Amino acid sequence: MYYVDPHIHMVSRTTDDYETLAKMGCVALSEPAFWAGFDRGSVDSFRDYFRQLTETEPRRAAQYGIQHFTWLCINAKEAENVSLSREVIQMIPEFLDCPNVLGIGEIGLNKNTKNESTIFLEHVELAVAHGQQILIHTPHLEDKYQGTRMIMDMLLGHSRVDPSRVLIDHVEEHTVAPVLEAGFWAGMTLYPISKCTPQRAADMIEKYGPERLMANSAGDWGPSKPTAIPDLILELRRRGHSEAAIRRVVYENPIQFFSQSERFGFVPPESRPE
Ligand SMILES: [Zn+2]
Repeated sequence: MYYVDPHIHMVSRTTDDYETLAKMGCVALSEPAFWAGFDRGSVDSFRDYFRQLTETEPRRAAQYGIQHFTWLCINAKEAENVSLSREVIQMIPEFLDCPNVLGIGEIGLNKNTKNESTIFLEHVELAVAHGQQILIHTPHLEDKYQGTRMIMDMLLGHSRVDPSRVLIDHVEEHTVAPVLEAGFWAGMTLYPISKCTPQRAADMIEKYGPERLMANSAGDWGPSKPTAIPDLILELRRRGHSEAAIRRVVYENPIQFFSQSERFGFVPPESRPE
């Protein structure tokens, strides 16, 4: 089955991973900007990273028939450096016209601090000023519920944010319902040691239905599995879900969400040259 991974960090994966993803049916993916595992030292470091996301990765992906899309921001983990964060936010418009840029992300909160909220809101202002979609990171474990609430309150309190153009990622059982009820899109992250397993994701799909719900691998430099979406496909098949129902979650939903960006030039596999 063809599928789209809406959240995966390919800068930290090998070219072999691209080949494996392609063989498993991945035809497009989107890569939000994230933390490098260390704090970057200057705005030029981010400029180079954004070139990697807008020039290098699309080329690497294209070798395997995968379309690569991306989102730009400075990660919440680095928001404590407010002056550097502001320099990066000022620089981002240099890249907003690149053909694979879908919007601003993954922005959010990490430890739910005041500086994180300040920088989060400045990213939101950037997004609405430029008509960009938003991709949200929600905090982990004990900070998740409160952080998700804070993020939703900030977004819903903004007169120019349209929830249908916002994807809130890393939802779990205790956050998925409020996210969907408020009109946002929700992403379940399939991660081997934290976040969500394919079984738990299948349970949530059964409980809440497929509307505005999708799944991602968030494959990155830590313990993660870039082929986690095929695992979910298998789990759903094992439970007797129809191919059409599975396809809705792993293929049609991300395409429908991304299509709200005018730069989402997705070519379905059946329309690609032989
Ligand atoms: Zn991520």
